Amino acid sequence: MDASIILFGPPGAGKGTQAVKISEITGKPQISTGDMLRKSVSEKTDLGIEAQSYMESGLLVPDELIIQLIAERIKQKDASRGVLFDGFPRTLKQAEALSLIVNISSVISIEVPDEEIVGRIVGRRMDPQTGEIYHIDFKPPPTEIEYRLVQRKDDNEETVRNRLAAYHQQTSPLSSWYSEKGLLFTVDGNRTIDEVGKDIENFLIQK
Ligand code: AMP
Repeated sequence: MDASIILFGPPGAGKGTQAVKISEITGKPQISTGDMLRKSVSEKTDLGIEAQSYMESGLLVPDELIIQLIAERIKQKDASRGVLFDGFPRTLKQAEALSLIVNISSVISIEVPDEEIVGRIVGRRMDPQTGEIYHIDFKPPPTEIEYRLVQRKDDNEETVRNRLAAYHQQTSPLSSWYSEKGLLFTVDGNRTIDEVGKDIENFLIQK
């Protein structure tokens, strides 16, 4: 398996949005543990049933389940050229497990202050037909599709506060762990989608 990239940052930093572009540039498929878990929840698999209550309260799903999920996913053929991890790893235990099975070439960290995040997440909507993500103020959807947009169950203010707490306690320490390994590239995510995307693109081209 070729080297992989990690997309790192708090919930609502724009990881999913930027991941689409990074995948296009690098040819590495996006692996979002959040998306995989949501699929398991909707399909009511054993994993989904176990993960659901953690996700709905904004807590992290236990490491064992996540590590198992990733170990299976990277066995698939499309992972042979390396992958783009989005929302994984989120704990030191996950990062250590990952380092044993995958070679990481860089960690792109999108930084956004807490006070920005709640507004970003609470206004977020998804078009279930295309998977496109909108924001009621910052990226308004076309009026003709407004009726079909959905909001993630965990995109409410109370749960976002728990997700942010989990990020600060369990996930953000990973940035210094990767920085010490010389892998961390930090981007100011408190700008437009295009500006953030340009910085990431320049980094990937120089690499
Ligand atoms: P996300 O879509 O990345 O915001 O993830 C949504 C929710 O799924 C999180 O709040 C966690 O409950 C769970 N989740 C996603 N990825 C992970 C992970 N790597 N480790 C633990 N829980 C995760």
